[in-house]
Amino acid sequence: MTDGFVENAWRNIRFRPAEVVRPQSVEELQAVVRAAAAAGRKVRLVGGGHSMNHVYRTDGVLIDIAALNGVVAIDPAAGVATIEAGRTIGDSIEAFAAAGLHFPTLGSWYTQSLAGAIATSTHGSSMTHGSLSDIVLGVEAVMADGSLRTFGADDPDLPVLRSHLGQIAALTKITLQLTPEFWLRCDTETLPAPAAFKNIVKRARAHEYVNMLFLPDLDDAYVRMLERTDARERNAAAVAQEEKFTKPSTLRHRIEDVVVFTLAHLYQLAPRLLSKWYGRKVRAAFFDDQGVVDKSYRVFLYDQYREPTENHRLRTIMNVEYAIDIDRLEDLLAALRSLLSEQRKQGRYINYPRVHVRFAPKAPDTLIALNADRDTAYVGIYVLGSVRHKKQIPIAEEVERLFIAHGGRPHWGKYSYLDDEAYRATYAGLSAFAAARARLDPTGVFGGDRGMDMFRDLPRFERPPRRQMLRSVFEKDEYQDIRLL
Ligand SMILES: Cc1cc2nc3c(=O)[nH]c(=O)nc-3n(C[C@H](O)[C@H](O)[C@H](O)COP(=O)(O)OP(=O)(O)OC[C@H]3O[C@@H](n4cnc5c(N)ncnc54)[C@H](O)[C@@H]3O)c2cc1C
Repeated sequence: MTDGFVENAWRNIRFRPAEVVRPQSVEELQAVVRAAAAAGRKVRLVGGGHSMNHVYRTDGVLIDIAALNGVVAIDPAAGVATIEAGRTIGDSIEAFAAAGLHFPTLGSWYTQSLAGAIATSTHGSSMTHGSLSDIVLGVEAVMADGSLRTFGADDPDLPVLRSHLGQIAALTKITLQLTPEFWLRCDTETLPAPAAFKNIVKRARAHEYVNMLFLPDLDDAYVRMLERTDARERNAAAVAQEEKFTKPSTLRHRIEDVVVFTLAHLYQLAPRLLSKWYGRKVRAAFFDDQGVVDKSYRVFLYDQYREPTENHRLRTIMNVEYAIDIDRLEDLLAALRSLLSEQRKQGRYINYPRVHVRFAPKAPDTLIALNADRDTAYVGIYVLGSVRHKKQIPIAEEVERLFIAHGGRPHWGKYSYLDDEAYRATYAGLSAFAAARARLDPTGVFGGDRGMDMFRDLPRFERPPRRQMLRSVFEKDEYQDIRLL
């Protein structure tokens, strides 16, 4: 935070709240909420600050609960753990693993807070285990009047607190259903895109953990299947993965950033000529985990190695991801393939050409979870915000229109190029959520200045701040510290 401005971890959102408060205890948090409510001020909570849109933006009081990050209780026999809501996913993994417990599934990153991850329905890829919100057994929260309330598994309002966008209450504790420690082996397969699209849903239903990367420039897809294994030792492939990213010095990482940035520029200058070559570079960067055997969370989090500097100013990545009905996935992917091919014919090439597909089953009882009321496929595209970004905007907008036409819901924590609110119609639970919000927070203390309007007027990086980009080559950034959990 500088000059009263708050910047998100992704560095694409900057705003100035009236005040930033960092309570050190639940009692302090209660006092802050009470005082804000009495003064008629709005309150927003911030966790890790990793969301790429306005989801925690406020002109009122911003509460950072990072200090509430303890472990409350772990019951290894029941596989149940309660932690304070500001604890990060990474720190939770470590505490749980020490008790022989793992998350049943994880996304690809670990520095988000548990409360923030749950608020936006953060997910990994499994048709068996769902999103992080789906393993919440209960929460404790400070309500709009400053009172402390516990929502147990049988509380009819617990579903509202799963995927709540920070708009109901301030979460202080979260209880999760975990699973005994398990190890995974990664098996991969490269297929022509049409064949992969045809059977990906069948595979996702048949295996515990499946995700897919589609490379439009090569017109093929890389299917990654993670299977449980009895092995209890990391193999050479796992060690090689780790060393590939941890051995090189910071200087080497920075040089790589400059190289990637330059390659991406070259590709945009002569896309027709370099398309296959660049596509192969992208494939080499991501398709390198065949045969890895490791602890489950390390396999889930291998992106901590692959994308250590995702938020670097040289190549800030705008990740646009939509949740769609799994029954519409094959049609959507075929339409997306045609659309991107049509765009290429017109000389428009996406500057970070990969499409990520992940899965989750229908959430049991949430209202506005991304996977509420339908088995879900998440489809994400990636755009380099600093590489001829203006040229990317029409492609990304077209892609998003296609997602929405297929009933897609934009990820609450990610980026969007559209101001369009048509996606709201895809949430059957939206009015029930609004009614619950009005009941649980009648004065709208947590309602947010923008309500649910977190995708409007997002900064576009149309003119990258060149001097800052140059300076950033010599800066150490947060994600440079790759952690070995
Ligand atoms: C590198 C990277 C990788 C990612 N990978 C994935 C992925 O694999 N899968 C996926 O689904 N998403 C992914 N995301 C998105 C990310 O998980 C979400 O944006 C998540 O919400 C960020 O958590 P946070 O703690 O930073 O929350 P913030 O961005 O700080 O806040 C998110 C929301 O939570 C609310 N909130 C925070 N704390 C509290 C609290 N104590 N009480 C009430 N409300 C609260 C905020 O008000 C806000 O509405 C990724 C993001 C990044 C940066």
